[in-house]
Amino acid sequence: MVIERDGARERVAVLEEVAAGMLACVRALVLDIEEIGAPEIQAGLTDALTALRAGGAPTALAEQASRCQHETLTFAERERRYLDGRDAELRRIITVLTDGLTSVSSGSAAYHRRLLENGSRIEAASRLSDLVRMRAAITSEVAGLRTAVAERQAEETSATAALRGEIEILRKSVETERSAARTDPLTGAANRAAFDDELARRCDLAAAGGDGFALLMADVDHFKQVNDRYGHKVGDRVLTALVTFLRPRVRKGDLIARWGGEEFAVILPGASARIAFRKARTIVAELATSDWAIDEGRTLKFTISMGVAAWKDGDDPAGLTERADKAMYEAKHAGRNRAVKAR
Ligand code: GH3
Ligand code: MG
Ligand code: MG
Repeated sequence: MVIERDGARERVAVLEEVAAGMLACVRALVLDIEEIGAPEIQAGLTDALTALRAGGAPTALAEQASRCQHETLTFAERERRYLDGRDAELRRIITVLTDGLTSVSSGSAAYHRRLLENGSRIEAASRLSDLVRMRAAITSEVAGLRTAVAERQAEETSATAALRGEIEILRKSVETERSAARTDPLTGAANRAAFDDELARRCDLAAAGGDGFALLMADVDHFKQVNDRYGHKVGDRVLTALVTFLRPRVRKGDLIARWGGEEFAVILPGASARIAFRKARTIVAELATSDWAIDEGRTLKFTISMGVAAWKDGDDPAGLTERADKAMYEAKHAGRNRAVKAR
């Protein structure tokens, strides 16, 4: 009997030890996730362990064990659902990233294809159950993506540089075209359109209180005779020579224009009638004493008649031009090779 009782006591002690060990194991397996009530379960398990060690009444111990078992099983279910949810969330994040990657590509077909490939490989990696392998696979794909993006940026940089070069070439050719459209092809002087614009602009500026200006009209004397005697080609060269002659005799900001045929106009910003008239007289006089080579051994002389008018209050382009033109005709009637100031 004594032996039997001793045996039973030993057995109970061993079972208590086993139960305590199991409780400690279960407690260790509870993940520390506060939001699903891990601390309460851990406390309940600790209490049960303490009560077992304290050797409480078997019925009380059994009740506590049953409550603890029920709560722990419910917790285990909560914990499983929680982990499943977190896993699903992680996969959703990867899907969002993958979709994002494929939708941002707007470049070359090759770049697009590479992004799509990387995206689907990341998607495949996200299906790996082993998190460590998943992370390794995704890290390697992301490194690949970085290289693709860097290459793409380099491509774009060189494409941008090439475009910039093309734009510069275009800008220059537009500039050349524009200046050609405003230049008289024979003499290189401004053409009539450019003259009309500049005259209107000068009138507006002066009317708005800006600087005044003067206008010279020059017409080659007996130019028909030049053509008749030496031919049209020489006539053309005379017109070009006149512009070459005028250029160094006016300021850089002055505009020399071919008004039509053998008539030229010069706009002198900031010049009064007196100053412009003096300039016109000097030009006429210097031209009259100049010789122009036609060919070896032959030279010709030509003269011009000039009309001078300065902008005055209320002037518009037509009125100002008419006054300068009238003065020029007065110079013709007075014998040519002279300058006349408009009244
Ligand atoms: P005036 O002293 O009265 O101005 O006499 P002009 O002979 O110069 O005047 P007219 O108007 O009788 O003749 C102008 C000539 O200019 C006639 C025309 O053939 C010539 N002409 C106009 N444009 C050009 C051109 O681009 N090249 C050449 N060679 N001649 C031109
Ligand atoms: Mg004429
Ligand atoms: Mg003439």
